Parts: sequence; C-alpha cells; structure tokens
Amino acid sequence: MHLESLSLRGFKSFERRVELRFDRHLTAVVGPNGSGKSNIADAIRWVLGEQSMQALRSKNLVDLIFAGTDRRLPVNVAEVVLTVNNEDGTLPLPYAQVAVTRRAYRAGESEFFINGVPCRLKEIHQIFLDTGVGRRGVSLVGQGEIDALLTATPEQRRGWVEDLAGIARYQLQKEQALAKVEAARQELTRLQDVIVEVR
Ligand code: ATP
Repeated sequence: MHLESLSLRGFKSFERRVELRFDRHLTAVVGPNGSGKSNIADAIRWVLGEQSMQALRSKNLVDLIFAGTDRRLPVNVAEVVLTVNNEDGTLPLPYAQVAVTRRAYRAGESEFFINGVPCRLKEIHQIFLDTGVGRRGVSLVGQGEIDALLTATPEQRRGWVEDLAGIARYQLQKEQALAKVEAARQELTRLQDVIVEVR
C-alpha cells in the first residue's frame, strides 16, 4: 500500500483545488515558513479520521475551512481526498485503488466517502487499523512528538508499542464489546425492575 495522491480544496490555506502526487519512493515538500507544509500533513491526518482538534492544530471544525485573506473570500466547505494504491491488498477492500474523501461544511456537517460511496467515519477507522496509518497510526510523526515520546508515561509508551504490534484492532473490538456488555447489564437491571413491578 502506498499513498498516490492528495487533493485539497478549501482546507486551511488551500483555497482552490490543489492535487499533490506522491512519488513511490520519496516526496519532499519544501516551502517558506507559514506556506502550508504542515497543513498538508494535517489534511492527511484529517481525511484518515483524526478527530482531535489539537492534533490538527486547530480550535474547531470551522478552523479547518479556508477562512479567506485580505484579497480572497472565505469558502464554505473543506474537502480532502486521499488516494491510496491498494494493489497489494493491505486494505481489506477489493479495490486496487482506494479514495477516501472527507468534507466539512461551515454549518457544521461532515461527510465521508470511500471510492465515492458515502460511509461512516467508523468505517474509515476500521479499514486503516493495523496499517500504520490512520487515526492511531504511527507513521505520521508530528512536530514535538519525539519530545512527547521521551517524556511520556509508561502507560502512554505501552500504547505506542501496542499500536506497533498491531493489536489496536483488538483493543478497539474489546472496547466495543465491553460497551455492549455494559449496555446489556443496564437493560437487565431495567428488566428486573419491570419484573418486580408487575409481580
Ligand atoms: P513552518 O515551516 O513554520 O512550520 P508551514 O509551511 O508548515 O510552516 P503551516 O503551519 O502548514 O505552515 O501553515 C500555516 C498557514 O496556514 C498560516 O499562514 C495560516 O494563516 C494558514 N491557515 C491555517 N488555517 C487556515 C484557514 N482556516 N484559512 C486560511 N489560512 C489558514
């Protein structure tokens, strides 16, 4: 699996549609300070399902939408499309190419698509689990993250090691199963109350 291209429109400093094609081996993005290099990394994080505004260096969803400049008007929608080559079948989908799209509107709604088909955020998280990229992936190393690793607590370091070992999928499944057990337990308590009442 490798990244083929990234298309940005209305995302942070990218007002008009810009398409970046990635070389199979090495791509470097260079530019003056403040020209938008980190915004490209933010776009990749975002389209892969990042929900933490702190990780996206923003205060809220609206902050991700092009806010205009002295000479340009703001726009109402931010859209990022990441196209991944899946010829080796790393992603659990029967397609050689997978395009993941995320949109955010100024009014607050969000939309997600996989190869043009609307989907839920959860599905995007699922397909990238254990691939090294994605919301909990370790292949994106942000500014200051090396410092964070050095000063992390043992529990936080264990989380990273677990991600690397590929058990994030099982952690997520465990959390979902525990939530279901808890919901069932509450339902059982409620039914017991009903039984007591009707006796
Ligand atoms: P450095 O080399 O200093 O790390 P950089 O090239 O990584 O810089 P970024 O942090 O990617 O730069 O981009 C910062 C720029 O993006 C700033 O000029 C900021 O005004 C602009 N920007 C961020 N969010 C928006 C937005 N919603 N609308 C318009 N511009 C934005």
